[in-house]
Amino acid sequence: SLGELSGNINFDKVSFTYQDTGIEALKDISFDIGAGQFVAIIGRTGSGKSTLANLIMRMYDADRGQISIDGEPLPGINLNSFRNQVGFVPQEVFLFSDNIRNNIAFGLDKVTDAEIETAARNAAVYHNIMDFELKFDTMLGERGITLSGGQKQRVSIARALIKEPKILIFDDCLSAVDTRTEEEILNNLGNVMKGKTSILIAHRISTIRKADKIIVLEDGKITEQGTHDEL
Ligand code: ATP
Repeated sequence: SLGELSGNINFDKVSFTYQDTGIEALKDISFDIGAGQFVAIIGRTGSGKSTLANLIMRMYDADRGQISIDGEPLPGINLNSFRNQVGFVPQEVFLFSDNIRNNIAFGLDKVTDAEIETAARNAAVYHNIMDFELKFDTMLGERGITLSGGQKQRVSIARALIKEPKILIFDDCLSAVDTRTEEEILNNLGNVMKGKTSILIAHRISTIRKADKIIVLEDGKITEQGTHDEL
């Protein structure tokens, strides 16, 4: 069982190997993320950043070591309850052949238009949507319009934010967003995620500079962690 999350995340000597390829993507990883922290994870392609995010989401279980959330080992935590409280934006955006409203409200039963609008504003995609003739009723996918890469990412961010998550995880989902828009989204996160945990897999130095903690991955290992000034 799981009550309301505080948002502490602990990795204790975690290792993980993909069974199909035999690639050891994480090697003896240990770190602490305190409730309310904004953490940036950086590292070159293939260094294990997505794997780390996927392990927190329990897409896979660690082979060795332990991941704990609020001091409770992850395998014992109710998965649905946990995932309901985590806003996860994957690297590969997934949109449905449905309208924008339903794409943002995905998975939630009771959502008001005001909540959808707020999520869209915080994800800095509201004005793009209002420029479409049918606004939030605009269809996406095969029967509708094609969004730009950056717009897709921001709809996906809105989908995570509407849950008012206790933990937010961005897996490199600002890559197609320009610097100014990214700045706007980060400012909004500063407000809506205040006191909650945010983990951003990121590249831009401007993003990283704002983090309470930076974790540097290299070839599945943590090579450095600390604040921007410390590193
Ligand atoms: P990128 O910045 O390119 O997204 P990353 O730092 O997120 O990279 P991961 O995606 O975690 O890195 O990959 C770490 C290692 O695990 C890589 O060698 C990758 O090839 C391998 N890997 C990733 N996903 C899988 C998978 N589903 N099956 C097998 N091997 C995988």
